[in-house]
Amino acid sequence: MKILKFGGTSVGSPERMKKLLDVIRPNLSGSNDEKQIVVLSAVAGTTNSLVEISQAYLNGDKRKAGELTKELHDKYKIFVRELFATEQGLTNGKELIDYHFTLISSFANELFTPIEEKSILAQGELMSTALYHFYLTEIGVRSVLLPALDFMKIDEDNEPVVEYIGEHLTRILNKYPDQALFITQGYICRNSFGEIDNLRRGGSDYTASLIGAAIRAEEVQIWTDISGMHNNDPRIVSGTKPVSVLSFEEAAELAYFGAKILHPQSVLPAQKYRIPVRLLNTMEPDAHGTLIAGESEKGKIKSIAAKDGIIAIKIQSSRMLLAYGFLRRVFEVFERYKTPIDMITTSEVAVSLTIDDTTYLQEIIKELNDFGSVEVDENQTIICVVGDFSFDKHGYSSRVFEALKHIPIRMISFGGSNYNISLLVNTSDKTEALRSLHNRLF
Ligand code: ADP
Ligand code: ASP
Ligand code: MG
Repeated sequence: MKILKFGGTSVGSPERMKKLLDVIRPNLSGSNDEKQIVVLSAVAGTTNSLVEISQAYLNGDKRKAGELTKELHDKYKIFVRELFATEQGLTNGKELIDYHFTLISSFANELFTPIEEKSILAQGELMSTALYHFYLTEIGVRSVLLPALDFMKIDEDNEPVVEYIGEHLTRILNKYPDQALFITQGYICRNSFGEIDNLRRGGSDYTASLIGAAIRAEEVQIWTDISGMHNNDPRIVSGTKPVSVLSFEEAAELAYFGAKILHPQSVLPAQKYRIPVRLLNTMEPDAHGTLIAGESEKGKIKSIAAKDGIIAIKIQSSRMLLAYGFLRRVFEVFERYKTPIDMITTSEVAVSLTIDDTTYLQEIIKELNDFGSVEVDENQTIICVVGDFSFDKHGYSSRVFEALKHIPIRMISFGGSNYNISLLVNTSDKTEALRSLHNRLF
């Protein structure tokens, strides 16, 4: 079984949606090794619109929510008209979108909480997959629509439950021994209360990797609008190039530290079961893209990524610091507020660390004040350089510092693993840092 995930732009227009078959090339005999599960995102722009609609509801602005809903519904009416060619197809498509937009509009009559918000956010993937399934039916290609809400599950800590997913998905797949093509929704899932929830923005990549891990698929393919992971952020730096091979560890670091092509957690499930992941381009299906598999190559710097929205917290204490038990007490504060720490550095009198989740920032600072003086710097960016940084290699780190000699660096993290060096800079210096590193390293 292969898992093929298509992102928002890859299903962004009726024309694009029709072109997916060039990539899927369905094998209709249903033989076991050629089976495919196709994971679809919402049509490009849809989730953003649904976020805006939810925001309007949360603000009590029903008029604005109504206007935005109508605008999106109108776009889908055109989409349906262009996707289907037969009377039956057009009727199926129209009834489908009318159902979903009536549902979105109906939230005007309810108390609107984050639970309703998550239901609204799920509508994009529910529509794209059902539309694609109707389209395949219209042109005579057999497929089965698998409702992700029947098997994708997260626990009370919002962590996916891979065993549950594997068990439930396998049971569903076993009902269709003669089918080769399955379609399901990315991004959406159920939480521990059984409510509709999601895997956070960009989460369809995570769905694909989780499904791949859960059923021990042969391969996961992430089809997007660029030919693989580039060696720097192509939105910021010009002249970036695709990296042909990454180890799981390197890809995981890049995804976590801001390479938007992959959801931050999406490498981990595939990594755990060593399932190869390919990053491929729907617009250029024959391009090699990036293969994520195996161990990292020696002697190469692979890529640079940046993650914004970072807060640095410094705790300074005369009483402390490297006394045993101190760091544990500091970490416990973050644990109590379920706030992950990204970077950490220590000295005899102070410890600096970074977080990106500010939900409990005030509470955390208040508790940290018991340990000493606390300083907080906002608007920070982590720059992460990934490649062979094993400690017996000389020279790479000095090239990194040389490239950044004109930029103030707030923190450095090196030695945590053999394949990355992370630096914290002011967000206003990010662009210059990425460009300068690019010129020096590649
Ligand atoms: P999809 O909708 O298919 O999930 P995304 O927009 O989430 O696509 O991810 C693809 C985009 O990621 C690219 O268009 C590119 O602008 C951006 N991107 C950021 N960093 C990188 C990188 N290092 N390599 C490739 N693409 C990157
Ligand atoms: N549609 C969701 C989003 O826009 C999930 C995804 O595209 O991966 O965030
Ligand atoms: Mg994405």
